[in-house]
Amino acid sequence: MNFIKYIALHVKKYLIAFLHLVYPSICLHCGSTDIIKFQVLCPNCYTQLPFTDFFEIEDNNVDKIFWGRLALGPSGAGLFFTKNSIVQLLLFELKYKQNKRAGFLLGNMIGWALKKANRFNEIDYLIPIPVRKNTERTRGYNQSLIICEGIAQAFPIPILQAVLYKNKKTNTQTRKDRIERGHHSNPVFGIKNTLQIWNKHLLLVDDIITTGATAEAAGSCLLQANPASLHFAAAAYTLS
Ligand SMILES: [Zn+2]
Repeated sequence: MNFIKYIALHVKKYLIAFLHLVYPSICLHCGSTDIIKFQVLCPNCYTQLPFTDFFEIEDNNVDKIFWGRLALGPSGAGLFFTKNSIVQLLLFELKYKQNKRAGFLLGNMIGWALKKANRFNEIDYLIPIPVRKNTERTRGYNQSLIICEGIAQAFPIPILQAVLYKNKKTNTQTRKDRIERGHHSNPVFGIKNTLQIWNKHLLLVDDIITTGATAEAAGSCLLQANPASLHFAAAAYTLS
């Protein structure tokens, strides 16, 4: 890319970010004003999103990640994640720009996809993967909870936050080698009020899935409470 083009792209990016501050009703990606109030993408950018259709596909790429690791029912992710894409922009806005509307949109897409797939009608609870209290304080919210709220708007299922929690980082944990601190010896997640999920159908929700390590740790915790089934949904799927 030549230098002028590079500068032009950056100027455009900052201009859109600035305009978005002043006039919130413009598309996050292209800056178009052809947008419904409180939405973050224009119809044109929305149709460019790389939908996976995983929720309708048996043994999809997300299901396969957990084979031999975690006993999950049908699972999936809404969009394919690639670098420098609209999907990356939405996730970045949600995680680092306090843009809840981006998370709401991602959740909404999952919700509509779940409804369309017709394989998730028995789900009793949405469970957002928790973040540590410190992270929640800095960010102002748990991004997975915002995604759950977006799902529930399209596919009305109660959100349950009272069961799964994330443990504080301990000194030993930070010192120990990553491989050593598997969730067996020093658990990352914990559960309480386990009777609430006994014999219930659960959908665990996260923003992105890559290796599946986080979902595996959280999911194996939930399975200890003997739910009727456990499913997993992420907003985006990326190859590890
Ligand atoms: Zn646009």
